[in-house]
Amino acid sequence: MTVLAYLASIDEAYVREFRARVVALPPGGVVLDRTYFYPTGGGQPSDLGSLSVPGGSRIEVTDVSKSGASVVHRLRGPAEALRALRAGIEVDGAIDWERRHRHMRMHTGQHLLSARIFSRTGIRTRRASFSGTQAVLDLERPFPAELLGTLRADLEDAAVRPRAVTIRQVPRADWDRHPLSARSGLVSLAPGIDPVRVIDIDGLDLCPCGGTHLRSTGEIGPVELRAPTDLPDGGVRLAFTLGPPGPTAPPA
Ligand SMILES: [Zn+2]
Repeated sequence: MTVLAYLASIDEAYVREFRARVVALPPGGVVLDRTYFYPTGGGQPSDLGSLSVPGGSRIEVTDVSKSGASVVHRLRGPAEALRALRAGIEVDGAIDWERRHRHMRMHTGQHLLSARIFSRTGIRTRRASFSGTQAVLDLERPFPAELLGTLRADLEDAAVRPRAVTIRQVPRADWDRHPLSARSGLVSLAPGIDPVRVIDIDGLDLCPCGGTHLRSTGEIGPVELRAPTDLPDGGVRLAFTLGPPGPTAPPA
């Protein structure tokens, strides 16, 4: 089993370097007792980075994925460094922060955008995905064309009047009886999730999520929201692209 250390708080999503213990060595990879590497899931690509073994040799982390309750870090590196990996030793992980921070900006921007679309129209987001500098939201149905300008203004407002992003842990039974809000997304909650990790964008959104998020909407920075395109299932696809990091972004 791997502890997903980045889940514990908003601040833990900003940890870029950590020490962990090797617990298993599946072919081509390693399982650690805990990790700050985000494994592919929820439309967000995995983190990349490196692991350093005792003696200082670095091994590249080329992919990270969940396998049951474990997280497998796929590796590429010098044979000598790979041979040094043994169950029980400690390694130092380092996350490609520029990539991770882009994902956090897009992911938090997506929460915000999905919430504003839902609160203004009742239209929910079926799925979202992030790649490079582009975030894609698939909505269940089209929205009025004039709303696009309003949504652009919403994103601009969240940048110039930053809202805090926090995490609440809500017992599953409580969430099922009294969800804190109508949900802007259509992805269902898996049965075993308890407590429910709810991402709270102050006054704008409450959304269960196991991803990595920014501390503030001000950190999303400038984004370019494109006009929606039709999907064959009757929905629409809305995409935005990141500009350069905002002034409040922590240095890489
Ligand atoms: Zn999220």
